[in-house]
Order: sequence, then C-alpha cells, then structure tokens
Amino acid sequence: MNVLVINCGSSSLKYQVIHSESEEVLAKGICERIGIDGRIVYQPKGGEKEITESPMPTHTEAVKMVLDALIHPVTGVLKSLDEIDAVGHRLVHGGEKFAASVLIDEEVIAAVEECSDLAPLHNPANLIGVRACQEVLKGVPMVGVFDTAFHQTMPMEAYLYGIPYEYYEKYKVRKYGFHGTSHSYVSKRAAEILDKPYESLKTIVCHLGNGASVCAVKGGKSIDTSMGLSPLEGLVMGTRSGDIDPSAVEYIAKKENLDMEGIMKVLNKDSGVYGLSGLSSDFRDLDSAAQEGNERAKTARDVFCYRVAKYIGSYAAAMNGVDVICFTAGVGENDGRVRESICSYLGFLGIEIDSEANKKRGEETTLSTQDSKVAVLLVPTDEELAICRETVAIVS
Ligand code: ADP
Repeated sequence: MNVLVINCGSSSLKYQVIHSESEEVLAKGICERIGIDGRIVYQPKGGEKEITESPMPTHTEAVKMVLDALIHPVTGVLKSLDEIDAVGHRLVHGGEKFAASVLIDEEVIAAVEECSDLAPLHNPANLIGVRACQEVLKGVPMVGVFDTAFHQTMPMEAYLYGIPYEYYEKYKVRKYGFHGTSHSYVSKRAAEILDKPYESLKTIVCHLGNGASVCAVKGGKSIDTSMGLSPLEGLVMGTRSGDIDPSAVEYIAKKENLDMEGIMKVLNKDSGVYGLSGLSSDFRDLDSAAQEGNERAKTARDVFCYRVAKYIGSYAAAMNGVDVICFTAGVGENDGRVRESICSYLGFLGIEIDSEANKKRGEETTLSTQDSKVAVLLVPTDEELAICRETVAIVS
C-alpha cells in the first residue's frame, strides 16, 4: 500500500509517500510560502532534491503540485495517482473527542472544527490540507492522526489544572499534551530495543526539538506529559517559555504595556533559549557560542537541561520508578552535551552514561552503561512512519 502522509500548516505542507509493506520512503518534500508566492521541494528516493518556484495561491494548488511531481514521467515515483491507496493527515488537536486515529468523514471534520477553539493556529490549517486532498484525490480514504490522542489516557489528577472546575466543564480547559505520535512511536520502539513487553515498562520520553516535551508512559499508556492545553506549557523550548508563574505574565504585560496578543507573542516567539541567550533558538548556535565563552548561551542551555531533568524526576515519582529514558527529536538525537548535562542530575536513579556511546547522533544507541539501573536510549523519532502505520491499520 502507498500512503501519502501530509502535515499541513498555515503556509506550508510537508509530505512523504511511504510504501507501507517495505516502510520505504518513495518521495518526500515540502511546499512552502503557500498564499505568498510558492515553492515546492521534491526529493525522490535515491534522487536529487528539486526546488521549483511556482505560484500556490491556496493549499489546493500545493497538493496538485505534489501529485504532479509524484507522477512526473522522469523523476516521479508513481505511474498514476491510482497508486496512492490512502492519505494520513497529521491533525494537531483532537480535544477530548479523539483518543485514537480515525477515518476522516464529514462528521470527523466537524468535530475537528469544534476543537479549533483550542488550537486556532493549527487545526484550521490541518483541515485546509484535508479539504485540498479531498478535492484532488476523490474517493481515496483519509485518516486523521492526532498529536493529542496518545495522551487521552492521562488520569484526572494529571490533566486537571488547579482552577475552578467549571472552566473544565464549560470550556474543557485541561492538559491535553502534544507530540503524542512521537511519544507513542519512541516508547514502543524502546520496548522492542530492550526486548521487553511494552505493557511491562515505565518509560520517560524526552522529545527535544524546537518544540519540546517530556512524557511518562506506564504500561504503554501516557500518564502525564509536560505540554498542556497548548504547546506552551512545560519545558523551556526554542522560543517558548514553558512553565512560568502567571503573575509574572501580568507583571510584564503591565510594565511593557502589552495586550494579551502581545504578551502571548513574547511567551511563544521571543522566549525559551532564544530569549534567554538573546542569540538563537538553535542549539548548534548556542553550543558554539558557549564554547567561545558566551555566558548567556551557556545559561540558556543550563536552564533548558535543568528543566528537563526536573520533569524526569517528577515523572519517575509519578510512575513510582522508571525503567528507560529515551532521547529523541532534533536536540535529543544530536546534542550529546545536552543529554549528558540532563543525565548529570539523575545519578540518584542509578543512571550512568557511557560517554563514548553518547557521542552518537541520529541512530538508535544505548547510551547507558551495563551497570546503569535505568536504560537510557537514543531513539530517532519518525512521525511520518508512525502516521503511515496508523493509516494502514485504520484503512485495512
Ligand atoms: P521541530 O520539529 O520542533 O521544528 P526538530 O525536532 O527538527 O524540531 O529540532 C530542531 C532543532 O534541533 C534545531 O532548532 C536545533 O536546535 C536542534 N538540532 C538539529 N541538529 C542539531 C545538531 N547537530 N546539534 C545540536 N542540535 C541540533
């Protein structure tokens, strides 16, 4: 089965075509600057990356261009569009309505629209991608895979905020959590690597990318995670503040004369390691600056690592122990210094890191020593493959 995986944002559309039996990526790329001017990046398996500038007034043109590229007589990977058997869409917020992936129909679209209130930047953009595919790929089954679904197993004590209960009842204000597809994929993979039943393990997954979150997975179920109602809660991220005293928000807003929109921009776009360092949200930049003696770059990394370690400690408490800690996503997969610094707080758990193994990047590696009481693994995430697998499971 060939599955087209779509991750649609407000002005971009990432895509992959995956052959589900071999799990080979036949082609991948991104359409960018949709609604502005338009550019498509297309890379067939084993081939060169092609970049074409072309007008894309809406996502429908973007999807058409992707399909044209896929069936191009020379560089295409499919003979015709009939070879696309299903489409898997990444959908960000499923609220409390979706605890699993679903076959997309009009009822599902309406329910996702209802969740848009909770994710005004993401859900409408995701649905534009769904509509564009419906228009161009008539009759092809489509599956929605939610970032929030994996976390719907969290117990009430983990997902309720300490605010008047009526806000939960009236507005569904609670912790939802994100990166669920990645946390699920990585925690399952960890069980396979350790050759232990998934249901028997207490796992902590650290998804450390530009957006970052930690998840406690007990017996194969998410029982807590650091992101909340929105992706702003939890860790200090590339540009997001993570946890902060709400009174500090009010205080800064008053001092800087910012309205709600202004202060939310500060917390989402101007904060995190970028705001702390005043330099960059990219850990490669922070690393080289810190090595050249830039104190604020070092401080930003230290704050980031400390916060991750604190979450790991609290999730070990929440699960009454931990068997395996996984590092994944851009920073988690590539930045050995960050991993080492986080693990330096975790000696109390009996964790020991093999410094040679910790030099590895981007490939599955056991980072802990033989004597370590908790396994520490580097597990590259693959959200597209996870979406492809979900899609096949639902369509079949
Ligand atoms: P997202 O999907 O949230 O945009 P990614 O998981 O792709 O994020 O992670 C992107 C981040 O990973 C970059 O901003 C950078 O900080 C970090 N990163 C990528 N490669 C490296 C590397 N070689 N060393 C350190 N950090 C890296």
